[in-house]
Amino acid sequence: MDRLQIPLPAYTSAWENDEVRMFRKTVAQFIEKEFVPHQARWRENRGPDPEAWLGAGRAGILLADLPEEYGGGGGTFAHEAVVLEELARAGVHFGSAIQSTVAHYIVGYGSDEQKRTWLPRLARGESVAAIAMSEPGAGSDLQAIRTGARRDGEHYVIDGSKTFITNGARADLVCLAAKTDPKIGMRGISLLLVDTRELAGYRVGRALEKIGMHGQDTVELFFDDVRVPASSLLGGDGVKNEGRGFAQMMEQLPYERLQIAVGAVAMAEQAVALTTRYVKERKAFGKPLFDLQNTRFKLAECKANAHVGRVFLDSCIERFLAGRLDDASTAMAKYWLTESQCRIVDECLQLHGGYGYMTEYPIARMWADSRVQRIYAGSNEIMKELIAWSL
Ligand SMILES: Cc1cc2nc3c(=O)[nH]c(=O)nc-3n(C[C@H](O)[C@H](O)[C@H](O)COP(=O)(O)OP(=O)(O)OC[C@H]3O[C@@H](n4cnc5c(N)ncnc54)[C@H](O)[C@@H]3O)c2cc1C
Repeated sequence: MDRLQIPLPAYTSAWENDEVRMFRKTVAQFIEKEFVPHQARWRENRGPDPEAWLGAGRAGILLADLPEEYGGGGGTFAHEAVVLEELARAGVHFGSAIQSTVAHYIVGYGSDEQKRTWLPRLARGESVAAIAMSEPGAGSDLQAIRTGARRDGEHYVIDGSKTFITNGARADLVCLAAKTDPKIGMRGISLLLVDTRELAGYRVGRALEKIGMHGQDTVELFFDDVRVPASSLLGGDGVKNEGRGFAQMMEQLPYERLQIAVGAVAMAEQAVALTTRYVKERKAFGKPLFDLQNTRFKLAECKANAHVGRVFLDSCIERFLAGRLDDASTAMAKYWLTESQCRIVDECLQLHGGYGYMTEYPIARMWADSRVQRIYAGSNEIMKELIAWSL
């Protein structure tokens, strides 16, 4: 997909300094050369090529906002945002955002050993990470998860299953939410860093058939009497690290939601840009579609909405960089920007006519890909609850 920009000469994001702009150039070139040509195969295989992870590691696009001492890029969320924007503009779905999310859990709460073991591998793309919270019986209501991690001497014994897990097909590191105390709700949940390599009783289910995002793997995971060392507990072995999972997820989910908001705005902008080009080329009744007032008005609305979204997102990014972004604003960003993304992409599809319904056209794939943005990482209904708590 061409990477187009809506011309906005009077506006640049304040968080994008010269160094971040240079990084963007490197990231964009890498994605264009190494990822874009293989998208049809990724979609057919329902996931990226395994080598894509190593390539991304070499190019420095994994863990861009993690300290260099752990192998990360040493950047800030601005660098992470650039990666997400360039992937979205190129129409590439690659689970680097999840990789970063899991790395943030490890940096935030992991033991020194966990940091040393996992972070450099994740940064190099030698390991792939997934985060496994959702279960067949519990998505929004995370307190209700049933996967258990029972202590048995120097081990935890894990039983249960997870569903909808992004990166799950290849993940050798699963950050797993499980009940270490099944008798209680949120305080019984712990996170475990499960090394899935040659792990008896662990099984990856079939690739789930989604309506979009076909280039990214989403699977079920099964744990049947799986024994992991007690040191797998996030933070390391020790009672004090049990039961902290729910609070840790609540602390880290805003990061994931902001990542989603970044992708939402980038895709909306890209949809407007490529639709503008399309309607200037496509003719009906002897003139370009762009000459019809309805087309111009619809695109004007889309551009205005995308730009209002951009300015709000930039404000959120700046506040996040300054450590001042509150949870209600993050929820607003995730909720409003993904709703806006879906509306814009839908209008842009309409302006493509029948071609907009053909999956060989990027706008058709964007339409299918964008829908889930309103559902995962906390559905938009849950976002409204979070916003309402601040009222
Ligand atoms: C493509 C894809 C990738 C995903 N990747 C991951 C992943 O990597 N890791 C992971 O753990 N999960 C992942 N998920 C799961 C995702 O986070 C959940 O689907 C989401 O949290 C919703 O949970 P649910 O599907 O169980 O829906 P439910 O919780 O059953 O909700 C169904 C409907 O009820 C609404 N609802 C629920 N509770 C309330 C409430 N209190 N008030 C108002 N409305 C409510 C919801 O908004 C929704 O509209 C992924 C999902 C998809 C589709």
